[in-house]
Amino acid sequence: MTSEYTVPSNWDTEAEIVIVGFGGAGAAASITASDLGAKVIILEKAPQGRHGGNTKVAAQGYLNPDSIEGAVAYLTAMCGPYEVPEDMVQVWAEEVCQNNDWISSIGGDPQEHQFQVGIEYPELPGSESTHKFHHGDILGYSETWKFFDKAVQERPIEILYETPGKELIQNDITKEIIGVKAIRDGKPYYVKATKGVILTCGGFENNQEMIRNYLPGIPYCYTNGSPYNEGDGITMAVTVGAELWHMNNFAGPSFALKVDEYETTFSMQALHFSKETPGGMIVIGSNGGRFFDEKYKHNHGKVKKNGVWAPMPTPCPLYMIFDHTLLTSGPLYDKEPRSAWNPMVDQYDWSDSNEAELAKGWIKKADTIEDLADQINHDPAVLQDTINKWNYSCELGEDIEYERKLMLNPLVTAPFYAVALSPTMLNTQGGPRRNTNAQIIRPDGSPIPRLYSAGELGSIYSYLYQGTGNIGECFAFGRIAARNAVADSPWI
Ligand SMILES: Cc1cc2nc3c(=O)[nH]c(=O)nc-3n(C[C@H](O)[C@H](O)[C@H](O)COP(=O)(O)OP(=O)(O)OC[C@H]3O[C@@H](n4cnc5c(N)ncnc54)[C@H](O)[C@@H]3O)c2cc1C
Repeated sequence: MTSEYTVPSNWDTEAEIVIVGFGGAGAAASITASDLGAKVIILEKAPQGRHGGNTKVAAQGYLNPDSIEGAVAYLTAMCGPYEVPEDMVQVWAEEVCQNNDWISSIGGDPQEHQFQVGIEYPELPGSESTHKFHHGDILGYSETWKFFDKAVQERPIEILYETPGKELIQNDITKEIIGVKAIRDGKPYYVKATKGVILTCGGFENNQEMIRNYLPGIPYCYTNGSPYNEGDGITMAVTVGAELWHMNNFAGPSFALKVDEYETTFSMQALHFSKETPGGMIVIGSNGGRFFDEKYKHNHGKVKKNGVWAPMPTPCPLYMIFDHTLLTSGPLYDKEPRSAWNPMVDQYDWSDSNEAELAKGWIKKADTIEDLADQINHDPAVLQDTINKWNYSCELGEDIEYERKLMLNPLVTAPFYAVALSPTMLNTQGGPRRNTNAQIIRPDGSPIPRLYSAGELGSIYSYLYQGTGNIGECFAFGRIAARNAVADSPWI
């Protein structure tokens, strides 16, 4: 049946459908496969309680457009020059339009976001078809995820936590994927999949090498979602012949504090587009100058320049420079626990006075601009000049450099402070390319037999992105992958 090289003589366990990764896409796939009567095993890298991936810590919205035609038009326009095949867009649209019906059919409670805000590209055709939903009365706080987590746990689905998938086991002759080599208790653990394997293990948000290789002009970037998403699915799929797509597209960057003690980033209140904080604040890049409107409401990291949407510039290293008025106006960190990994999972308790973080050295303090510049390795004259320009803009009531409209407060009250900022992101979009059946395909377009994917691991989004699209796609392609994998006859 198979190669002597790749197939273990003893399998540790088996199922008809093996799902790698227990976030939104893994939940949708496993629920669908189980409800179709298949025996399902989920392999999850994280310990129980830290599973759920980006889905657990997301803002919890998912997409359910009100018309297939509108959804097709909007996604096609968002893809712009980075075209996605029409049949893929069509299947995506047909399936995302069924998200609410499906969620209701398994006992969920789809609620439309109270205000229909956040259509990111209203000028594009079909944008008006966008409708965003969440489960239950509350938006955020993992509520949609909790419903899916429970729905999986209530079904006869075996979940193996702390068991990361490492390699796909491929029949050397037929090239079918017949199982997964995972690691459990530090040892290889062989999981047979008699019908199919569905990869739903997220993106490469926490893999600096892939970030440098694939994201445009980003020297480093840190996630504010799940630290367990390290691009494992990309490595596994490429090894068995998959083509990659959309590797340079991601929901970012924005800027946040990253410290050694934590794997994910801390967002700064003062940088939030809708928050007005007292005190002076600017962000400087490597040349000591400002480089953008610090309060700009970007579209998932994309800004429009010269008529084209592109990722925000990242002239690293970056610093947020601010004065004593801002420091004493409340915690710098946005502790609002509605979404993001740190507030939802690690839950670092930032001090209200910011004194604890000053003591840790996360915030640098100096009595003069000159001393502050020394501490962050900048030319004092350049930093002073940048601050003078900013203070002049504030005096005029008009940002002469970047047209910033909010927090036009001068940096005047000593002491002065600096926080190192890093590019940060919600999620990557790239990964193995899939077809309309959610099969992972090779560069020649042929499917790798019995290998499927769903979710942000090789998502459909090639360029511009409409918020709630990722979780909407997780549910849609999770269902498609499961239906097709279950319909396969077993190889054994
Ligand atoms: C703060 C934040 C807010 C967001 N808000 C929204 C929103 O409101 N709406 C929206 O649509 N999108 C949102 N997104 C994006 C969205 O959350 C993700 O794109 C989506 O949830 C991805 O789902 P997934 O199932 O593909 O991956 P994930 O939910 O990330 O799940 C992947 C799982 O795979 C596991 N895993 C990783 N490697 C392995 C391995 N080798 N073996 C086994 N398991 C593995 C991980 O531990 C994880 O549990 C947000 C993201 C963030 C970070």
